[in-house]
Amino acid sequence: AVEIRDLHKRFGRLEVLRGIDFAVDPGQVVCVIGPSGSGKSTLLRCVNLLEQPTSGRVVLEGVELTDPDVDIDAARRRVGMVFQQFNLFPHMTALQNVMIAQRRVLRRRASEAERIAREHLAKVGVLEKASFYPAQLSGGQQQRVAIARALAMSPALMLFDEPTSALDPELVGDVLTVMRKLAEEGMTMLVVTHEMAFARDVADRVVFMDGGVIVEDGPPDQVIGSPRHERTRSFLRRVL
Ligand code: ATP
Ligand code: MG
Repeated sequence: AVEIRDLHKRFGRLEVLRGIDFAVDPGQVVCVIGPSGSGKSTLLRCVNLLEQPTSGRVVLEGVELTDPDVDIDAARRRVGMVFQQFNLFPHMTALQNVMIAQRRVLRRRASEAERIAREHLAKVGVLEKASFYPAQLSGGQQQRVAIARALAMSPALMLFDEPTSALDPELVGDVLTVMRKLAEEGMTMLVVTHEMAFARDVADRVVFMDGGVIVEDGPPDQVIGSPRHERTRSFLRRVL
């Protein structure tokens, strides 16, 4: 679904990504782990071009996003993103939040957008909160609305950047359950997370990043269970 080749990103003199190569195949779940500042968020932001890569290639469903002639908006629509902070519109209800981009970006009719919104709110277990505003929802409910909003755009790839890090511990499970269900349904997912149990159970591959490079990339049992590199081992000692 997505292929990244020799991706570099610098901010002024700071080189944050120093040659990243990997791919996520259709239906795969890849979890990205690594210390703070290692470039995980920057990597995700380069995949949907919230950041412009300094060099290298990002190919999404055969379309090279880094090609200057490509229709970036059309390509970006194929990618859903869920952030640590839920980023819902505070003045819109849950239902309106899930409808707005369908209406504005995909130009779906109101009736169709509403039907699809309700379908996805039901799927993430918050349909009964459809008429609530974000401030009236728990963090876990807000995050599930944010997931429904991304899914309603029919993405080919879902990016998650620490989707449970801002949640109270008792709310984390609900969001992980929704993500697990998505994975089982075959959604292609690239997930930055500190939830090692999730990575271990759900991911097809785990990628460990440090200092802007991929140090290890392999099946969860190998990368988490018996890491080859000392840097991975010392990171895991701190988080497990
Ligand atoms: P965390 O686990 O804390 O979220 P991360 O692995 O997601 O960390 P990034 O957010 O990708 O790390 O940041 C990597 C480095 O890039 C950091 O040193 C950060 O300060 C720097 N950086 C990120 N965005 C910018 C920016 N827009 N301008 C300048 N520097 C940036
Ligand atoms: Mg980050």
